[in-house]
Amino acid sequence: MTIGWHFDNTYSKLSKIFREEIKPTPVLNPNLVILNEELAKDLNLDFSKINNKDLAKLFSGNTIPNDTNTIAQAYAGHQFGHFTMLGDGRAVLLGEHLVNESERFDIQFKGSGRTSFSRSGDGRAVLGPMLREYVISEAVHALNIPTTRSLAVVSTGEKVVRENLLPGAILTRVASSHIRVGTFQYIAARQNLSDLITLVDYTIQRHYPEIQSSKNKALDFLNLVMEKQCQLVVDWMRVGFVHGVMNTDNMTLSGETIDYGPCAFMDHYNPKTVFSSIDKFGRYSFSNQPPITKWNLARFAECLIPLIDKNEDTAVKIATEIIDNFQKIYEEKWLNMMRDKLGLFGEDKNDIELINNLLNWMKKNQADYTNTFCYLMNINSIRNEIYKDKNFIDWFNNWEKRVLTNGGSKENSLKLMKKNNPIVIPRNHKVEEALEAASNNDMKPINNLLSILKKPYTKQDNIKNFQVPSNNQNYKTFCGT
Ligand code: AMP
Ligand code: MG
Repeated sequence: MTIGWHFDNTYSKLSKIFREEIKPTPVLNPNLVILNEELAKDLNLDFSKINNKDLAKLFSGNTIPNDTNTIAQAYAGHQFGHFTMLGDGRAVLLGEHLVNESERFDIQFKGSGRTSFSRSGDGRAVLGPMLREYVISEAVHALNIPTTRSLAVVSTGEKVVRENLLPGAILTRVASSHIRVGTFQYIAARQNLSDLITLVDYTIQRHYPEIQSSKNKALDFLNLVMEKQCQLVVDWMRVGFVHGVMNTDNMTLSGETIDYGPCAFMDHYNPKTVFSSIDKFGRYSFSNQPPITKWNLARFAECLIPLIDKNEDTAVKIATEIIDNFQKIYEEKWLNMMRDKLGLFGEDKNDIELINNLLNWMKKNQADYTNTFCYLMNINSIRNEIYKDKNFIDWFNNWEKRVLTNGGSKENSLKLMKKNNPIVIPRNHKVEEALEAASNNDMKPINNLLSILKKPYTKQDNIKNFQVPSNNQNYKTFCGT
């Protein structure tokens, strides 16, 4: 009976300062809550011949697959602007699973017990938030946005102390790697050039092999990471995703969305949208995500200074010039993304105005971000009375004229819009409803929600309830749960 694991643990072979060797702490009574069979298939893994009891043992870390070398990874990070030593305080990397000998995926348990990086934490995670990460990360994947993914959640049979006693759980996270800006900050802070070179070479080999033998490796690396992160944040802006905790330790070098703590999707359009209960000043609000991406990239660039030029002043100057390009690259990508959302072909000098006029109207009228684009596509749109507003109709007429320019047609425009505008997103109230049912052992709502979120760009019947915006304007989310 083989599952098909094919572990190759290159990160654990790096020098000791990169990680701590540690096993997951066994749990009392693990139970399988959810398994992502589709993802398993993509990973060439077959769990079909294993009973649920053994699966629970496997995904809790009570039994550990052969050929793994379990570690907690060391990293640092700026949390809300303050630099701190962090590391996997409640996660253990099983190793890298190879698919078809070539594609490499980190398999990590989150909530697997204390490590030397736990500080005062208990190393554990709670069922609700782990299922929430499962749902939202899978939704983000279905939206065609790079992300870590979720393979399984088990409950541990143990209680975790938060404000109350809550059921413990472990999430199995799959990522193209867990290397973060914070990993570079941790190594750079130690000021050992050879470790920095090791990390740069390792990351390039893993994520950007095309620049392995480039002459200006550090600069090419910085540019590529910037490009990836820029694309990621544009994708978030496209679907109304608010990450919520864009600390530098939560920014991957692969360009995947990571760390689904306080994230949530925006309903009515408001650039100042914040859900996180601790984000008092809106540092990670919807519209602040691009400048924060740039800020994080600047912290990343700082780590590379010793490799950019022997003369520190020259290196800083070069790095600054690169980071200063962010704005231009972002604006261009954002503009093109918004053109796609509106089904516009080519470029027109009035496009920015057209786009901003719509956004301003949406803000003023508390129009739902997702549903407004559904209305424009004439697909599954709901609550359409709002669009009878005269200002909107004027805007609509201008938009229709623009659609027909540059060789565009209604038909082609709609095709383009359908690829870029989700019809359904994980609405906060539907996610909460599904989690509430799951906490009472009713998995039907969460499975139903997951199946709907799997096809966000496809017209589906009977999903009106999943399109209605939440009527809780003060929806709050929480970190570190
Ligand atoms: P996060 O807010 O999930 O990005 O986590 C920030 C840091 O806190 C990371 O170093 C985590 O490993 C650590 N951490 C979060 N929750 C816990 C916990 N319950 N026990 C130990 N460490 C934790
Ligand atoms: Mg984190």
